[in-house]
Amino acid sequence: MSLSQLARSICESPTLKLNETAALLRDKGEPVIHLGGGEPKSKCPIDAIVSCASLLQTGEVKYTPADGIVSLKKAVIRYTEEHYDRLVAAENVIISSGAKQSIMVLLHAILDPKEEVIFPVPYWVSYPEMVKLAGGVPIPVAARDGGFQPTVEEIEEAVGSYTKAIMLNSPNNPSGVVYTDEFIAGVVELCEKRNLYLIMDDTYNRLIFDGRTPTNCYRFSQVRNLELSKLVVVNCVSKMYAMTGFRIGWAVGSKEIVRAMTNIQSQQTSGPAAPSQWAAVGALNGVQSSIESLRLTLENNRNVMMTRLGAFNGVQVVKPGGTFYCFPDFSAYEKDSQKLSRLLLDKVRVVTVPGREFGMEGHLRLSYCGTIKEITEGIERIKWALDPGSPNELYLGDRKLVRDWR
Ligand code: PMP
Repeated sequence: MSLSQLARSICESPTLKLNETAALLRDKGEPVIHLGGGEPKSKCPIDAIVSCASLLQTGEVKYTPADGIVSLKKAVIRYTEEHYDRLVAAENVIISSGAKQSIMVLLHAILDPKEEVIFPVPYWVSYPEMVKLAGGVPIPVAARDGGFQPTVEEIEEAVGSYTKAIMLNSPNNPSGVVYTDEFIAGVVELCEKRNLYLIMDDTYNRLIFDGRTPTNCYRFSQVRNLELSKLVVVNCVSKMYAMTGFRIGWAVGSKEIVRAMTNIQSQQTSGPAAPSQWAAVGALNGVQSSIESLRLTLENNRNVMMTRLGAFNGVQVVKPGGTFYCFPDFSAYEKDSQKLSRLLLDKVRVVTVPGREFGMEGHLRLSYCGTIKEITEGIERIKWALDPGSPNELYLGDRKLVRDWR
């Protein structure tokens, strides 16, 4: 078979693959604990369901404008005013099928072949592949101190004549780290100084802990006129409203960039599915208590996860300031994260995501978006599998496991 060079250069999404593997094992009756997940367990807001259902009841589910329905754009304009203190026009907003599509059409709209997009390590698994899909070159930048946030100087050192954009995701998937205001301000300034696009992936913006307030990147911008700005902010209903399956995200940027993105989206998928857009209208315009209740649940889950991981001698973990992920360093037990993740799935049926997928070996991404029981049992199983001081036997349901490795 002759596949394109592009097709051959793109890897499968490892997180989606893990979901499939976990589902297959579960179907076979295996007691799998999924600490690899990327979606909240809670139900989506009732206002989303009601709004979606009222469209369905009309029986008229038709094409939508390529850049999204007017009602959803209005809701996004309100959201932007409330959370970013920026009054934008409908032409500054594009609604896409998930934040993923917003980022993808944006990359298509700005990248010429071989142009580079810089992003910090660890990064969301999809960034390098998405940049490659758009014909660009991903440039991950690791912090020299081995931490989860490089310095502005380290980012600046990576800027060259091919650099087109910098992409930031804070709070960060996979580390859960909330980048400091100084760092975000520095990157905004750098982009404005060097005339680069800045893509702010604010997917987890509202899911933050310990009394933090969500970061508003516009605050650091010297360019007051959005039409002259190369800052594009991406959001979605996926995580904050637990609406991953609806596939609705959006981007806010200059009219010129949004027009270009819309043209691409119109040829790619057309406007996002109408029922999903109406669901998002319901979520954004409805009662907002579900976000706070999800945030509180996740903060509590984070605390439980931290306490449990604290019981591991060799594991180093940075306390996440947001998201529902943490990114502990397991290299004292095993340096090869894929090998370690495989071992944990094969031996104790715990799904984790290898750090290598996020550009950092020796780490595993563990999610705490599940139940407390899953978190405590999952970590207990991992500890049993890795810690030589653990008893030799463990029960998974009524199955007795004997540690016959190491
Ligand atoms: N950005 C980041 C950092 C994410 O983690 C995700 C989802 N895992 C997305 C974007 C994509 O969100 P959506 O499901 O709305 O496409």
